[in-house]
Amino acid sequence: ERGKISLLEEIIPQFAIYGELENLKPFGKGHINDTFLSTWNQAGARVRYTHQRINDHVFAKPDEVMDNILRVANHIAKKLSDQEIPDRSRRALTVILSRDGKPWVKDADGGWWRSYCFIENAHARELAESPEEAKLLGQSAGLFQKQLADLGGPRLFEAIPNFHNMETRYTRFHEALDKDEHKRAKTSEKETAFLLENEKRGGVLIRSMREGRIPERICHNDTKMNNILLDDAGGGSLCVIDLDTVMPGSSLFDWGDLVRTVTTRAEEDERDLSKVIFDTAYFRALLEGYLSEARDFLIPEELKLLVEAGRNITQIMGLRFLTDYLEGDHYYHIARPDHNLDRCRNQLALIHSMDNQWDEAERIVKELTIA
Ligand code: ADP
Ligand code: MG
Ligand code: MG
Repeated sequence: ERGKISLLEEIIPQFAIYGELENLKPFGKGHINDTFLSTWNQAGARVRYTHQRINDHVFAKPDEVMDNILRVANHIAKKLSDQEIPDRSRRALTVILSRDGKPWVKDADGGWWRSYCFIENAHARELAESPEEAKLLGQSAGLFQKQLADLGGPRLFEAIPNFHNMETRYTRFHEALDKDEHKRAKTSEKETAFLLENEKRGGVLIRSMREGRIPERICHNDTKMNNILLDDAGGGSLCVIDLDTVMPGSSLFDWGDLVRTVTTRAEEDERDLSKVIFDTAYFRALLEGYLSEARDFLIPEELKLLVEAGRNITQIMGLRFLTDYLEGDHYYHIARPDHNLDRCRNQLALIHSMDNQWDEAERIVKELTIA
């Protein structure tokens, strides 16, 4: 990252940070953006900031992404301040503006940079390892949605258009299948058959939104464990970060993705499918956490779809993995030839496990939503 760090060195004075820059180094394990950490001497005090070069292959309009992030971060900060919540500066991202008042600075290569206050004495974890952690994750995502339920002003920009649109994802899948450019349709007939059988059912969230049965809300779209900062001192979850994909959507998109990633102990590309199990104890804990914040604003039609949403988001991922496999592995990085097919099989195995425990999952929802 030698190249990027020198681009950053050139433009860093344009951010409204005072003091003397003492240190600048790469930081973190994000997969999307390049993240750096700077340390400044501000009249004897050491203060740190993070700087990120926004991935402009993923985000076509970085200025719109930053517009979204600034509004969301400021709204949460204002809410914390109105409610006199302690430790506010660690509970919301603080965007550092440029000296001319923009939430980004461009470098000599045309790259877009943003800066945040570094949240001190916090850490991110890679995986939920107990139902208690699943609960924390659900609670953090629910709180995030609740904090944004009353964001005023114009609709947020769609950072990635049609991100969770099952219908457009299926259109692309059908195209890939018809073309079959890499002659891979034959090796994935079973998976294709399942996805075709489930096409109509998979459209339930997007149809419900279009027909106004479930409301459009603000959605994070990347609520995994390593995007939630936890307090080093054991004070629980502090802050949901990684706001690139914050955009209009359904509350059930985030919820469904939590179900997909938190209720199984298997990695997304685990090939031993006997390990891909929907664990109802994690599901219960996750839902308890989520509802502890989200129960206030969710409407009956959303509650009715809680189990279905987990299946739905798992399906969309299975569909995307198979589409990428058919198209020749352009989107997801692969470490072995059939990696994307393995990922698809893994997601479909998770759906089968959900289907086998459907009644139990619905019973849990009923029990936790009645109170
Ligand atoms: P990506 O989109 O690449 O995943 P993230 O915004 O999640 O980028 O940042 C990558 C990592 O950097 C995070 O997982 C976190 O550990 C760390 N990080 C980012 N911003 C901050 C911050 N303001 N304070 C503390 N750590 C941060
Ligand atoms: Mg991240
Ligand atoms: Mg991100």
